[in-house]
Amino acid sequence: MAAQRLNSMDVKKMNRNAIYRYLNYHPSTSIQEIASAVNLSLPTVTQNLKELQERDLIIETGLFESTGGRKAKAIACNSVAKYSIGLDVTRNHVGIVAIDLSGKMVKNVRHQFPFANSETYFQGVGRLVDDFVADCAIDSSKILGVGIALPAILEADRQTVSYATVIDFKGGNVRQFAEHIPYTCVLSNDANAAGFAELWGEQDLNNVVYLSLNNSVGGSIIVDNQIYTGQNHRSGEFGHMTIVPGGHTCYCGQKGCVDAYCSARILSDSTQGSISEFFRLLRTGQEPQKALWEEYLVYLVVTINNLRMLYDCDVILGGYAGAYMEEYIDLLQERVASKNTFEADGSYLRVCKYKLEATAVGAALELVAGFIDTI
Ligand SMILES: [Zn+2]
Repeated sequence: MAAQRLNSMDVKKMNRNAIYRYLNYHPSTSIQEIASAVNLSLPTVTQNLKELQERDLIIETGLFESTGGRKAKAIACNSVAKYSIGLDVTRNHVGIVAIDLSGKMVKNVRHQFPFANSETYFQGVGRLVDDFVADCAIDSSKILGVGIALPAILEADRQTVSYATVIDFKGGNVRQFAEHIPYTCVLSNDANAAGFAELWGEQDLNNVVYLSLNNSVGGSIIVDNQIYTGQNHRSGEFGHMTIVPGGHTCYCGQKGCVDAYCSARILSDSTQGSISEFFRLLRTGQEPQKALWEEYLVYLVVTINNLRMLYDCDVILGGYAGAYMEEYIDLLQERVASKNTFEADGSYLRVCKYKLEATAVGAALELVAGFIDTI
């Protein structure tokens, strides 16, 4: 009997969840449209909508034009029912974003705040989060938690850092942040978080490789809409694939890694660390930016082609440098196609949709996704 009751509860939850998810992708929908899309009866949909409304998760946005009879109500998700905070912790900065349940970024800041594995640093991060939440004027009861993205490899339990060289945090634990942040804290790998952001809201994007061109190069492999983590949570570390045997020394100590050729720093070192300034000067045909870009492209194209050969799926360019590559996408597609053994078309390559704070947004989105699962 108990099993049967649990079963009907499960079905009820699945129905409610399906309705919410449908509304999330189709704002301002009528009850009739929902019922037909999720294949449920009108009374079932009406009952579920009532429950969702009681939990403040949906709102009525108006009435549709009548085609005879009573006007149908337009219903949408209440995207501001909850918020999630995301942190992008890098060697020199902390980026902070707040997003709502639709994944929309409602506020972001970026502080110069060099990482240190010390109590003072974690206290400081806690203060930055407190100030940010106060500036957002979000009721703290609406905050789902804080996703913290790190340039580090995590243990399977996602509580502890198993490997980190970009920041001095090997063996670090989520508790060190959580002690100073009054919300649930969850750690993410930075490139996986950014890859997760790219996946958000895409219903047809099943398999994709995300190449993150930040000051360190990383990536993420998404198979069947899930991040493939690997046996040791070290998948997608594209930055340490060898592309030039005996080549430039990578920060990891090896020679010839992708990172030593495709890091955003290769470009932004010529403009005092500003990637936007690099691309501004490149646009006007300045040297040495033009020459740096040409050399950078050679290695980037090899890396992208290798990823296409390995995974046979779309490749998304992200990170500080990738976000600026929209205007060069035709050139990049042409170059990668010319290297390809099997196809003369480079349209598998594209640029990330989140140009700003993708990593922090992705870290925050994981909490949103977790919350939506519970609806
Ligand atoms: Zn390396």
